[in-house]
Amino acid sequence: MKIHEYQAKELFRNANIPVPAGEVAFSVDEACTTAENLGSYPVVIKAQIHAGGRGKGGGVKLANSREDVKNTASHILNMHLVTPQTGPEGKIVKKVLVEEGLKIARELYLSILPDRATATIVIMASQAGGMDIETVAAQSPEKIVRVSVNPLTGIQPYHCREVAFGLDLSPEVAKQFYPMLGNLYRLFVSRDCSLVEINPLVVTEKNAIVALDAKIDIDSNGLYRQKNLEELRDTDEEDPLEVEASRFNLNYINLSGNVGNMVNGAGLAMATMDIIKKAGADPANFLDVGGGANAEMVENGFRIILADKNVKAILINIFGGILRCDVLAEGVVQAAQKTGITVPVVIRMEGTNVEEGRRILAASGLNLVTAVDLKDAADKIAAIVKR
Ligand code: GDP
Ligand code: MN
Repeated sequence: MKIHEYQAKELFRNANIPVPAGEVAFSVDEACTTAENLGSYPVVIKAQIHAGGRGKGGGVKLANSREDVKNTASHILNMHLVTPQTGPEGKIVKKVLVEEGLKIARELYLSILPDRATATIVIMASQAGGMDIETVAAQSPEKIVRVSVNPLTGIQPYHCREVAFGLDLSPEVAKQFYPMLGNLYRLFVSRDCSLVEINPLVVTEKNAIVALDAKIDIDSNGLYRQKNLEELRDTDEEDPLEVEASRFNLNYINLSGNVGNMVNGAGLAMATMDIIKKAGADPANFLDVGGGANAEMVENGFRIILADKNVKAILINIFGGILRCDVLAEGVVQAAQKTGITVPVVIRMEGTNVEEGRRILAASGLNLVTAVDLKDAADKIAAIVKR
């Protein structure tokens, strides 16, 4: 789960990680009031969307007076912000963060993330902050310091010294950095984060270290024990179909192709997308209806797939195990009757109660194409969408 910069900074503030003074504003008036309350200009006005690269897209601006705040905030609020991370469709800005403007001496990069390969937590840091870190990693990997922390022993002073050395911090700045990094690490672990990233982490002209930007991703699998974080979710920023699917506990991800697909099991769903690609077509979604799906979930899955206007045909690929083929078949028939399936459907199913499942589908009078195996299914669906 992604959260906004202003929310991440609130978590930082509570964890004693220094951030600029500031507040979120939902209107131009609120932005002006917050700016006045900050007590001095310039202030920075920052679009709050779930994507980075806002600076490049014109979503981060300095303002030097109340009048300037009014103009800048009315420009940014409701703007259609396109950044390298939003895709060409961009995002509508519904709130801005108004912050004190700082005088920056150095821009650094700092992040913490799990490293699956080594089963450790990695701290990444770079003196090349404020830039796109993927570019830095690709063009000058030597500029990135990586320090691995064993999650069982946790962060130790030597980890902090190694990162501070890599960032070439002066003793005065390093003294502030050590507790900050410890706090950031503990925040990462205690809040079940999958990423915390500060880009840039700045050293101000007064030699203070401050998180100028803040990005936190929470591992959704940990949300059940992070109840107070769940309320930070902003469904406005998510794909509407994915939000709808999550209400029904369906693992659905919207993609750009035109072959809708419904599969049970994440592995089989990945394999299905692969064979669709291999047959020369493009999947419109990932959907794992899960092992314990019932007819109602299958129906909801159908509705969500069909709500995507790009979908030209649907491939159902079910291996009946815990989800029996007859239950799936009933769900398909039910969905067809209620939603009126308007696109061709290819079904490949095998496993528990497959005979009964086939009987239900045959007796339904629906126009379904049956496939004998995975390859046959992929070829048939590709032929349909290419017509
Ligand atoms: P992003 O582009 O979405 O990553 O947004 P950032 O929060 O990183 O802001 C982009 C850039 O705006 C930063 O790299 C800074 O150069 C600049 N910026 C943000 N806040 C301030 C500030 O208080 N003072 C100054 N001088 N620049 C700032
Ligand atoms: Mn940034």
